Amino acid sequence: MKKTKCLIIGSGPAGYTAAVYAQRAALDPVLFLGNQPGGQLTITTEVENWPGDTSVQGPELMQRMADHCQALGVKMIQDQIIKVDLKNKTCESERSGSYQFETLIIATGAQAKWLGLDGEKTFQGYGVSGCATCDGFFFKDKKVCVVGGGNTAVEEATFLTKFASEVYLIHRRDTLKADKTNQERLLSNPKVKVLWNKELVEIDGDTTPSRKVKHIQLRDTQTGDLTDMSIDGVFVAIGHSPATSLFKGQLEMDEGGYLIAEPNSTKTSIPGVFAAGDVQDKVYRQAVTAAGQGCMAALEAERYLQCQENPEHETC
Ligand code: NDP
Repeated sequence: MKKTKCLIIGSGPAGYTAAVYAQRAALDPVLFLGNQPGGQLTITTEVENWPGDTSVQGPELMQRMADHCQALGVKMIQDQIIKVDLKNKTCESERSGSYQFETLIIATGAQAKWLGLDGEKTFQGYGVSGCATCDGFFFKDKKVCVVGGGNTAVEEATFLTKFASEVYLIHRRDTLKADKTNQERLLSNPKVKVLWNKELVEIDGDTTPSRKVKHIQLRDTQTGDLTDMSIDGVFVAIGHSPATSLFKGQLEMDEGGYLIAEPNSTKTSIPGVFAAGDVQDKVYRQAVTAAGQGCMAALEAERYLQCQENPEHETC
């Protein structure tokens, strides 16, 4: 079994940032990238809210983070961790053997849930989005819709009124799950119309000369009637799934499967195990907040190791 002071799982902004800090703290981290390195930003197009870049393509930004780690000499492994034993601080990978770690930084992220429509794949990044904070800006004076009835959908629809001329909230029921305050804010906005008891069943548009969403089809959940609507943007906000199945029964999680960390910290319920980014954050979910938490996790791992060596140290 190979040994490391710091094992990091996940190669989104949280994982890469944790690796940069851990490497610079001489922890010689081992970073497991997963099978498809780069995380959620690799399926985004333009990113305009990463500080220092007025506009950068998501895949390019992630490649730059990988290059940064490479330049610092971080040991990066393109493989998946398939089993973790947090009691004994060991884990097993698919193809690269087993590791014993002193600290573990979990940065496995979360995935937006999608409806499963062909049009979502065809137009993702070209009118279909899973993040209004990231992409709302591109819909100035456009007509957009948001699917879902929870806090995310309601907050995203309200946020989109800053840019879009019309915002339609498509919900499959006749009541919303979101908080009352959020609901009131949304329903009192003159740019918003809620389409109750409606399911989005098709997204269509142009594929040449450039890809662009143009129409959607809705089905009434009570009558089954189909209606067509012209639209410029579709935001799917029906929840996220954090990638935490490896840790079930070993770490504290909330009802949605998100890891629970101590307030203002990345410390999980097991000492030496830290959680950074979307795997523990269901509120902000931004590249920059994930990166910030990756930094925190590496600094906390460093401090944990110092305290293991010298429990009398004033910071322990
Ligand atoms: P939720 O699980 O709360 O809501 C998901 C919504 O999507 C529901 O209205 C659900 O409808 C709908 N939905 C699910 N699947 C489908 C589908 N296949 N087709 C159509 N509609 C579907 O997810 P959220 O992302 O909104 O929130 C996750 C958690 O994060 C919640 O606890 C939320 O309160 C919290 N949160 C808090 C915020 C804050 O405090 N500011 C901000 C954002 C989120 P149905 O009811 O019919 O299943």
